[in-house]
Amino acid sequence: MCRGPDDKSLVIRYRDTATALNGEKRAELAGKGLLNAAISHLLFAYLAENGIATHLIQVLDEESALVKKAAIVPVEVIVRNRAAGGFSQKYGVPEGTALLNTVLEFCLKSDALGDPMLNHSHITALGLASEAELAEMTRQALVINGLLCTLCEKAGMTLIDFKLEFGRYDDSLILCDEISPDSCRLWDTDTGKKLDKDRFRRDLGDVLGGYREVLRRLRHARSL
Ligand code: 5GP
Repeated sequence: MCRGPDDKSLVIRYRDTATALNGEKRAELAGKGLLNAAISHLLFAYLAENGIATHLIQVLDEESALVKKAAIVPVEVIVRNRAAGGFSQKYGVPEGTALLNTVLEFCLKSDALGDPMLNHSHITALGLASEAELAEMTRQALVINGLLCTLCEKAGMTLIDFKLEFGRYDDSLILCDEISPDSCRLWDTDTGKKLDKDRFRRDLGDVLGGYREVLRRLRHARSL
């Protein structure tokens, strides 16, 4: 992240560094930044076309973009359509189990504390976000989930779960950070094959093969 041409913008660069287990596991995956940039820019453009306000101003090159300098709300919003990962572990539910409704979780954005889960009263008590902001993040997260599920379905992928970050900019909340296989679980709909960062977290091999497949399928789905 570096300064943009004025004090209301920033240049973000997508890194090749992959981390897991709260930073304990780390590797350089040459080309990951380029893939995540392409995937995230495609998804942000799609969301913007469908009425979601995002931080993206302009794609600069294959691995960087000019974005609005928003004040990031220190609350990660996790949306879950199926059980997996932390949810499966915490509640003892097999991965892939369909959920009877969409699950929304809020977590403190703090690597040092391991991103602990927060409820609404924690968030307002700690002054992390107001009730109105929470309602707006909830509304936007559900709309984004619907839009992403539709696109992924066209791409033959199931959107299992994902993480969003929002920021304050000009008195409103806008979607920030990135949406990529680093922050989503995406499974091949027919085979259940994992195409996301779980390939790195779980040593499943050919991490970038999964990311390339996600990009190829999303490009195709966008062209339909
Ligand atoms: P889980 O809680 O199961 O580990 O993660 C749920 C979803 O949110 C997964 O798609 C995961 O990739 C994403 N996620 C959760 N925390 C983070 C985070 O700190 N960084 C990123 N990039 N993604 C996260």
